Amino acid sequence: QREEEAISPDELSVAQLREMRDRAQNYTFQTEVNRMMKLIINSLYRNKEIFLRELISNGSDALDKIRLLSLTDRNVLDTNPDLSVRIKAEPEKRLLHIIDSGIGMTRNELINNLGTIAKSGTADFLSKMQDTEKGPQEMNDMIGQFGVGFYSAFLVADRVTVASKHNEDVQHIWESDANAFSVAVDPRGDTLRRGTHITLHIKEEAADYLQPDTIRALVKKYSQFINFPIHLWASRT
Ligand code: ADP
Ligand code: MG
Repeated sequence: QREEEAISPDELSVAQLREMRDRAQNYTFQTEVNRMMKLIINSLYRNKEIFLRELISNGSDALDKIRLLSLTDRNVLDTNPDLSVRIKAEPEKRLLHIIDSGIGMTRNELINNLGTIAKSGTADFLSKMQDTEKGPQEMNDMIGQFGVGFYSAFLVADRVTVASKHNEDVQHIWESDANAFSVAVDPRGDTLRRGTHITLHIKEEAADYLQPDTIRALVKKYSQFINFPIHLWASRT
């Protein structure tokens, strides 16, 4: 249970939240991101569960990156020697947390990586999906082939909060309701030490993804090939 305390998201106090929102800078998504999000919502409503595969694989990618860096500079791990992904559900608050101790994102990376579509794979996916009407099997193949990425979080969440700590910046918080996003310095300080904490504010109709059994089954299904430990637990209620 001590472990739970150690990673349990320190919630912001009302005062901290107010302070953060006062100081936050607001941004609009790149047009392609808006298109991508619409497409995801409209075409993947029967495959909502893939959000977890996408978020775990991002965590795993981030862990790969810091591990690779550590081969040439051991000190990069000093901020947090643990390399893992943690998942925690809080059904009573309708929150799902996915936390990794990977490389993290600087402020600029939060803005660029979670506000634009930087990689060509996603653009390919976008154009292929829009080309023609897809049947369910075709759709499944495409999802498997491309990966839909971070924005799939909005399949199950109406608000997504990302706290991230990179070795070369202070901890920041990115927040979005899918319409626009904001970024602010985290008033709690560098609580993550290193890595990324994604909080999904789960939609009412997606409440099943807060059930430990559902999450466990999805982790098993999608994460067999992840090279880092994935810890999973539900909150005490
Ligand atoms: P992809 O993973 O295919 O690049 P995504 O949409 O899943 O596309 O993610 C976009 C980018 O956001 C990633 O390339 C990465 O730079 C950044 N990112 C997302 N999640 C994380 C994370 N947990 N830790 C660090 N960076 C992340
Ligand atoms: Mg990804």
